Amino acid sequence: MAARKSLPVTTGARSTTIGFVNLGCAKNQVDAEVMLGSLTAEGYALTADAAQADVIVINTCGFVEEAKQESINAIIEYGSFKKTGRCKVLVAAGCLAQRYQGELLEELPELDAVVGTGEIGRIAEICRTTLAAERPSQQLWMAPPPYLYDGLTPRLRLGPPHTAYVKIAEGCNRNCAFCAIPLMRGKQRSRTVASIVEEVRRLAAEGVKEINLISQDTINYGVDLGLKRGLTALLKALVDIPGLRWIRPFYLYPQPIDEELIELYAGSERIAKYLDMPLQHINDEVLGRMHRLGTKASITDLIEGLRRRIPGLTVRTGFIVGYPGETNAQFAELKRYLTDMEFDRVGVFLYSDEEGTPAVELTRKLDRQRIEARRTELMALQESIALKKSRLMVGRTLEVLVDGPSEESPLLLAGRHEGQAPDIDGVVYLSDGPADRPPLAGDLVKVTITEAAAYDLVGCIVG
Ligand code: SF4
Repeated sequence: MAARKSLPVTTGARSTTIGFVNLGCAKNQVDAEVMLGSLTAEGYALTADAAQADVIVINTCGFVEEAKQESINAIIEYGSFKKTGRCKVLVAAGCLAQRYQGELLEELPELDAVVGTGEIGRIAEICRTTLAAERPSQQLWMAPPPYLYDGLTPRLRLGPPHTAYVKIAEGCNRNCAFCAIPLMRGKQRSRTVASIVEEVRRLAAEGVKEINLISQDTINYGVDLGLKRGLTALLKALVDIPGLRWIRPFYLYPQPIDEELIELYAGSERIAKYLDMPLQHINDEVLGRMHRLGTKASITDLIEGLRRRIPGLTVRTGFIVGYPGETNAQFAELKRYLTDMEFDRVGVFLYSDEEGTPAVELTRKLDRQRIEARRTELMALQESIALKKSRLMVGRTLEVLVDGPSEESPLLLAGRHEGQAPDIDGVVYLSDGPADRPPLAGDLVKVTITEAAAYDLVGCIVG
């Protein structure tokens, strides 16, 4: 889950100030950026000080139990500014809002409006209407299908200016038994290639060097538009846009990848040699009960083939532990797989029952303590693998995109190499640089790696 990002402070034509809290994944971040773009276009001022906000919008996450609880806690926490600050209107938007709708209004009376994922394009109108309404009048704003922005939609981007997320599609047509995303985001709807190209051109002209392409099912981009090899067509249209350094597609489902796409990954310097492919599990019986396509053998062939064909490929994946009926032997098989495959990055998620999904009906549920213990075990194993792989980087000289002062110290710069994605992977701390012209955020520098920890590296700028 992405950390809360700090809100830019803006002044607006209106005297009303908006506070905004974004939770959840990069897809939610893009929704937040679209809402902030529409609020500032209407003249609202943004404040980072919740006590000074007339309206507080919380963009919630509803992915798994932990994320839901974090969203509810945020609603309660920021609701208190109705008593201690200026807040007149508290709004919940995003996945949790879409999922629980009126129930959320009933359970959390501090909320004035609940806004579904289909209505985020109307956030400015919703804030205006709710502010003007006679109190008490809780309002529910829901409309199918999920809102999808286009290349002309104003966005106020969060995070460093040189890296941007671009949402290429919304929703998912698959039926993974544990997943509530299709319930919240609906069936897949892709943006057109032209709309995405237009947006990426604009971002590149603004100085963005790294484009992170996101959707729920990126490998299937464009299927709903009748495109046969949508992702390949999209990447071909993006690679020649001047100013870009890395294009980084996320969330590739483990299914056979067409030859042309592999060649594009291998042959284009602009497509990051980075594969983000969530596998969820590797035992065939568990995969079957998860309603996932592919088997251990086909998935292994796929990843090994990609590693062979795309030299230097960094592989990130994700697994769910504690799926109903996951036996000790099946968990042991998952651990062995990690050891055998030596993935560069692994995310581990705890299984939780999500209302409305088929997995809820499964028997042989594991208790929470056992599920958490499995995550701890898997993470510890991955840490040792990651450390071993990181140490192999010492002595190598890599191209690093400078992100700016590190979270550790404003005096220490941090950046990322091609194999480190923003927000989810480690960083490279930059120990030295030219004294006359220290590098700035957004610069690309050559760095020789001098030290390695499991997730982060330390390097010296050499050019
Ligand atoms: S492919 Fe991803 S988003 Fe789609 S149902 Fe499966 S886990 Fe959910």
